[in-house]
Formats: sequence, C-alpha cells, structure tokens
Amino acid sequence: MTKKTKKQTSKKQNSEKLTFPADLLAPIGRFFIEEEQKILKKINNLKEEDPFTDPARTSNNASPDADAEEQFGHMKNKAIQNQLRRRLIQVRKALTQVKIGKYGACEKCDKLIDTDRLMIYPEATICLDCLKKEEKAKK
Ligand SMILES: [Zn+2]
Repeated sequence: MTKKTKKQTSKKQNSEKLTFPADLLAPIGRFFIEEEQKILKKINNLKEEDPFTDPARTSNNASPDADAEEQFGHMKNKAIQNQLRRRLIQVRKALTQVKIGKYGACEKCDKLIDTDRLMIYPEATICLDCLKKEEKAKK
C-alpha cells in the first residue's frame, strides 16, 4: 500500500491568493441574497405579464393583429426571463463562492478577479482572461 506522494497540494500560494476578509464577504453575501430575491420576483412578474399565461387569452382571440402582438410580447417576455434566469444562476454561483470563502477568485484559474470587473459585475466567478478563452472556444 503506497500512499501517493503529496500530489501538488500546494498550488503555488502566492501572496496574490485572494480571500476577502469576512467583514467584507458578509455584505457581499447579503447583496447576492437580495439580488436573488429581486430576480425571482422579476421572473414571477414576467410570468404573470406573459400574454400566454393570460387565462382570458384563448377566449378572446380577436384579430390576427392582436395575436401577433401577443406572440411578440410572449417572445420578448421569454427572452427577458431567460436573461434573468442566467443572471440568477450566476448570482447563486457567486453566493456559493462567498459561502465557501472563495469569492473573488476565478473558478477556472484561481487567480484574483480584477476588482474593477467585480465592481461592474459583482457576480463574476471567472476572470477576464478565462472569459475570453471561453468565448473563443465557443466560436
Ligand atoms: Zn481565470
């Protein structure tokens, strides 16, 4: 029985290894929880506004025009909902990062995410370099 020799447990821990202090993480965590609630509320509102969920819809299928408008409204509504859902996933991801004390570190390369980026996009969980790589890979 051979114990595998320490396999790179120490991923070079430079001083740049970032962990936000707890007193900073707490408000960030609260911010994400609030965001999560806000997004959920927005999604619910959108669901209610969706002409397709209007129970009166089937009964008052008046003109083809109104129908097209409904169709458009529905599509726009769905698009916004999808956008919000993506954001929701991102916010939840970031919240998890906060909880495990890894907020601010890129989930791909472990490097510190630029704080300027976090200011604009607080729910970012990967750094710009990795984002660029990902986008390149998608194309
Ligand atoms: Zn990265």
